[in-house]
Amino acid sequence: MKTIDDIQHIGILGAGVMGSGIALAAAMNGYQVTLVDIKQEVLDKAAAYFDKFLGKSIERKKIAPEDKPKIIGRIQIGTDVALLKADFIVEAILENLDLKRKVLRSIEAQNEADTIIASNTSTIPITQIAVGLERPAQFVGMHFFNPAPIMKLVEVISGEMTAPEVAEVTFALAGRMRKKPVQAKDEPGFIVNRVARHFYVESLKVLEENVADHAAIDRLMESSGFRMGPFRLMDLIGIETNHEVTKSLYNSFFQDEKFRPSRVQQKKVDAGHYGWKTGRGFYTYE
Ligand code: NAD
Repeated sequence: MKTIDDIQHIGILGAGVMGSGIALAAAMNGYQVTLVDIKQEVLDKAAAYFDKFLGKSIERKKIAPEDKPKIIGRIQIGTDVALLKADFIVEAILENLDLKRKVLRSIEAQNEADTIIASNTSTIPITQIAVGLERPAQFVGMHFFNPAPIMKLVEVISGEMTAPEVAEVTFALAGRMRKKPVQAKDEPGFIVNRVARHFYVESLKVLEENVADHAAIDRLMESSGFRMGPFRLMDLIGIETNHEVTKSLYNSFFQDEKFRPSRVQQKKVDAGHYGWKTGRGFYTYE
């Protein structure tokens, strides 16, 4: 069984919104990182993001100029999933149970028996994802929040089969990444996504019913104290990811009406208007 001091090398599968941010959070705290995505263009975008984020961190005096090449030098990137051999692996691919199960089985097969594998899933119970793994005791939930290098909260989720020591190492690892971990029960949406879902779902209903347009809803929520309104936040998260998360919660709670996904959101997904990452969502971006 690995201890926290055995964790030196972190592998990350999926270099999208979350995977790229988790890679940076790990590398900024001294970890060696391997970041893999099947799409080269996503890796190129991740590299540009590292450059921009660290540049801003220097301007804000959060890091010294000489730290930037050191941090970037700790991150190896590639499209070959066979590269992903590490002490601790975080899966951050699409929010889809079948895909996660399939991909995690092959990641498990190419790693040592004591490698810990975590999923960054927003909503899918860890016990469900673990079905079919050879070593479900080594599998845990480690749910970061967006943007991962900045947001402090990490939910650590033990599935039915997760070994207590694995959850402990995951908790300690979040601490070493200067995060604030909390233990969450293995229920759909864990804590934050279950509570926060209504922020999005109800705002989309308000939009659907023409009570107010998206910009007005955002302005009002922001002036009432929220840092970002729901539509600006959906654009940041990825509208398609946010939609998948809502669908997952809706189905996990046996089609509970209060989580019903929105047709307005479905249309954005159909059109490929995913938000910030595609240049167009509820708003448009350069
Ligand atoms: P994303 O779409 O931005 O990135 C997912 C990446 O996975 C894509 O780049 C895709 O090419 C890659 N991918 C797909 N299949 C792959 C495979 N077989 N091997 C390697 N890479 C593969 O999604 P995201 O927003 O980063 O979300 C990833 C996970 O994190 C999801 O489970 C999501 O629910 C969760 N999450 C998202 C947020 C958020 O705000 N976006 C926050 C917390 C958790």
